[in-house]
Amino acid sequence: MLSALERPKFKQFLQEYHFDLLVVGGGITGAGIALDAVTRGLSVALVEMQDYAAGTSSRSTKLVHGGLRYLKQLDIKIVAETGKEREIVYNNALHVTEPERMLLPFHKGGTFGRFTTSAGLFAYDKLAGVRREERREMLTSDEVIQMEPLVRKEGLLGGGHYVEYRTDDARLTMEALKKAAEKGAVCLNYMKVEHFNYDEDGKLSGAAVWDMLDGDYFSVNASVIVNATGPWVDEVRKKDAISNDKRLRLTKGIHIVIDQSVFPLRQAIYFDAPDGRMIFAIPRGRKAYIGTTDTFFDEDRSNPAATEEDVAYLLEAVHYMFPSVAVDRQHVESTWAGVRPLIYEEGKKASEISRKDEIWESETGLITIAGGKLTGYRKMAETVVDRVAKKFSKKEFGPCVTEHLRLSGGEFENEEQFKAFQESKANEAVLFGILKDEGRRLAATYGTNVDILFNYAHAMTAEKSVLPAVLKAEILYAVHYEMAMTPSDFFIRRTGDLYFNIAKVKEYKEDVTDYMSRLLAYSAEEKTRYLRELEQQIELAQVKGDSHAHSNN
Ligand SMILES: Cc1cc2nc3c(=O)[nH]c(=O)nc-3n(C[C@H](O)[C@H](O)[C@H](O)COP(=O)(O)OP(=O)(O)OC[C@H]3O[C@@H](n4cnc5c(N)ncnc54)[C@H](O)[C@@H]3O)c2cc1C
Repeated sequence: MLSALERPKFKQFLQEYHFDLLVVGGGITGAGIALDAVTRGLSVALVEMQDYAAGTSSRSTKLVHGGLRYLKQLDIKIVAETGKEREIVYNNALHVTEPERMLLPFHKGGTFGRFTTSAGLFAYDKLAGVRREERREMLTSDEVIQMEPLVRKEGLLGGGHYVEYRTDDARLTMEALKKAAEKGAVCLNYMKVEHFNYDEDGKLSGAAVWDMLDGDYFSVNASVIVNATGPWVDEVRKKDAISNDKRLRLTKGIHIVIDQSVFPLRQAIYFDAPDGRMIFAIPRGRKAYIGTTDTFFDEDRSNPAATEEDVAYLLEAVHYMFPSVAVDRQHVESTWAGVRPLIYEEGKKASEISRKDEIWESETGLITIAGGKLTGYRKMAETVVDRVAKKFSKKEFGPCVTEHLRLSGGEFENEEQFKAFQESKANEAVLFGILKDEGRRLAATYGTNVDILFNYAHAMTAEKSVLPAVLKAEILYAVHYEMAMTPSDFFIRRTGDLYFNIAKVKEYKEDVTDYMSRLLAYSAEEKTRYLRELEQQIELAQVKGDSHAHSNN
């Protein structure tokens, strides 16, 4: 449904149809809105100026979480809402989210003590409606050490153990978009809204879009337009008439990735940094990742990068909480940086600005949504589409159905069924010439779409190639089903390899570019440019050549 090879056809649709709704932005917010709207019966187009999820939605801490930090700020309503949403997001995409028990150690003089941790997590369980088996446990200091021997023993008083959900933000976005496309939404990446068109009453009637890949320029007609461009919402609003004084304050957060051989973290931990901020350290396969920072940001939103200072700050936090771990700068294999689109609040520090979402509408009818979390994307979309639907006096649309709508690849009744599915697919993989573990990984990543990959891999085993058959199958799937246009799309947003397996990216970057070039018929110039782009992303992930002065505020 989202085949890169079908772009010309989708572009033609964009030009020929009059859509009920045009969504600007293909991050999780835009994807959620497109899905909600199309399943209520609206005709929907979505355009994204980069790759899907290339903005903040591939650069988060990758947790679908109930927002414990809001509890610290006594924002009870957000805790209750995000807690409930967490469960819904999880059930609808079991292959992209998985429960991850989080350890919250407390030390003498730290942010939390035994009483505050216990009361806080108890309130969290209640407010967020946490399932019985996932409710918090309180641990003694010995139990904490048993669970994670690397935790600082000095001053350790105990810990709390509670459940968060780990996800892959870019894949979550992709699965929502694929579902929206399956239901009829016309989605295009690398398609930028340049300016808006208006009718004779001065109301929005569409937008002029620019194909970033081939330079085509044309108009898309739509009755309603939603601006879901995250860190870019102000820029897009400037293309329209700005009719209120709300604006964004961007803050940057970075993560670092370290190999388990150096940092053998067993247990996800939410801990105090020396300056009192809370930091996550999360095991993921053979790696551990640590984040995040929170600093004001006014630079290039398309390529935010970690600086040496950011990395040093996180390493200091690791040294502080895990004193026996001898990690230093050379062990940081990869990094990523994301920009939070927060709503400006006078005089507040970066970490104090609320993460809540807000919707506002201009006099011309442009609906803008900003702020919020990955976790709340479905609910946010419901609220936005309720508002969009009200703008049609002559059309009736159905109610919101996304609460029980499985995302693409997530057609499972429950967790048990998903686990059994992974095992049976691991066994079946062998029949397709795929190793059992690879089969299990593919099933866990692509869910009920995995058969397509198995068939691709099987077909590829006969072909002589430097690329492993499974890697080729993943490329084919990304191109034919997920509109991957460039090797960076594949290695960053479709697989996450740039962050969690950078060695693989370095090893195969030329061969993957060659293969994609054959599939997508790149010109010689495009092929060179895309390879160079990937190499630049590798450099950025390794924090090369970027170290301007900067302080954590
Ligand atoms: C460091 C960090 C950690 C985070 N951790 C978490 C977490 O663990 N859990 C959680 O729930 N949330 C987390 N968040 C928040 C979450 O990631 C964001 O709220 C969410 O990804 C925002 O999605 P979005 O779709 O609104 O924005 P984006 O993902 O940025 O999408 C907006 C898109 O609009 C596109 N665009 C811009 N201008 C145009 C135009 N003119 N035409 C077409 N397209 C355009 C951009 O290219 C971009 O892809 C974190 C955020 C950060 C920065």
